[in-house]
Formats: sequence, C-alpha cells, structure tokens
Amino acid sequence: MRVNTLKRAAVAFALALPGAAIAAVVAAPAAHADGCYTWQRTLQQGRSGDDVRQLQIRVAGWAGAGGIVRVDGRYGPETTAAVKRFQTAYGLRSDGIAGPQTFSKLYQLQDNDCTPAHFSFAELDDGCGRGGWSGGPLSANQTKANALRTMWKLEALRRGLGDQPINVTSGFRSTTCNDRVGGAADSQHLYANAADLTARTRSLCELARAARNHGFSGILGPGYPNHDSHVHVDSRRENNSDRTTNRTSWSAPDCGVRSGG
Ligand code: ZN
Repeated sequence: MRVNTLKRAAVAFALALPGAAIAAVVAAPAAHADGCYTWQRTLQQGRSGDDVRQLQIRVAGWAGAGGIVRVDGRYGPETTAAVKRFQTAYGLRSDGIAGPQTFSKLYQLQDNDCTPAHFSFAELDDGCGRGGWSGGPLSANQTKANALRTMWKLEALRRGLGDQPINVTSGFRSTTCNDRVGGAADSQHLYANAADLTARTRSLCELARAARNHGFSGILGPGYPNHDSHVHVDSRRENNSDRTTNRTSWSAPDCGVRSGG
C-alpha cells in the first residue's frame, strides 16, 4: 500500500499544480520498487523463470476465446498472445514483449498485497462468513494463491466488460461451508478456483459470454440449474490432478453459452 499511496499522492499533488509543473512531477516516480513485486528484466518468448510465472498470473485473464494461460514459468506462444491482448486492452503498444510499459501498467493495477486494483482477498474468502483460507482440500497458502489467480482473471473480465463493476457473491468455501450451501462435492470453490458473480450494469448473460474470453474453463449461468441469479466462473482446467482431468465445461443455455460453442 505504501508505494502505491505515495505514487497516488504524487499524482494528486501534481494535479493541484499549474500546468507547467505537472509533467515533471508525474514523470518522476520510477516504475521500480513496487510494493508487491518488481520485475528486473524485459521478458519475451523463450524466457523462463519465476518472473515469467509472476507475469503469467497477471495476464492469465487475457487468454482469448476458450483459451487458458498455463502458469508454468515458460514464456511461450500462449503467454505472448496474452501479453498482446493485455497491451491492447490498456492502450499500450501490442508487441507481446513484457517491458517497462507493460510492467508500469501492472504496477499501477496491483495493490501491495498483490491483488488487482478492483478485487480484494476479503471478497473471496467469505467461506460462509468465517473468512480465511483453511478448511479446504489444499493448504491455506495454496488456497490463497489460487484466489489471487482467480482475482486477476476477474480484473481482466471487468476490463473486458468496459470497466464495469463485478460483485463476487461467493468465492472460497471450506468443506464445511460447501456442504452447508449444497455445493457440488468436487466444487472448484473448495480450491478458491471459482467465483460466483453478479453485476449491476451488465446482465448475467453478458457476464457469462464475456467470461469465455478471460481464461475461465468453467462457466455456469442462466438456464443451468440453480444459476439464474448469478454466473459461476472457475479455472477447472488448471486444477487437474493425477485423479481427475477437468475439461472446459460451459453451460448457460439461456445465453447461448456452451462448451465448444
Ligand atoms: Zn459457484
């Protein structure tokens, strides 16, 4: 929070100054020393490392129609395409290379706890009102990391909808909580890989259709049983284990949203 607050304070201060002074003050803050994570080198196809992984988490919502971006620390064609879409969405030069401009935009978008600007951990950890990340099949840390990945996709979805607010009505659920609300036994909510959504300024069908472009392999909405009051999105394809192979599954019949269509 500290760094972003300072940056914002600097900008706010600059806005209060006469025109001539503005350019100098706004240009002053370096795009370094971000409060969450700072990239140290330009990244492009062929690179690998944890810095690539950090980038992938943040652009995974720009996977394109029906796609996903694997968060594997390898900058391949999927990542290049996602970076291009991210750049286009934010009015940057779209070259698929993550350099200073792209990182600046990411610093601007992320809070010091690494959540994207318009979503917070508190919105995802409801767990039937209990809060926290424990009580599911994964460790609390793994669960929280999944919640972060979910939020970056939601940030992309929000941008894709034209910067319209999205409300999360249910995020992570502990096993106890999931049982209480009658969730499926293998619900992605147990892994913090899912969110139930509504939006005041967009219809549920608009949400469900847009979600297809933002890395969500699970979409359930109007026309699917018990999903006429919200849209469920999840990342089931990234949650494969030895025991299960989760494939893309979309069903919002009233919106014309279905797998493979
Ligand atoms: Zn759900």
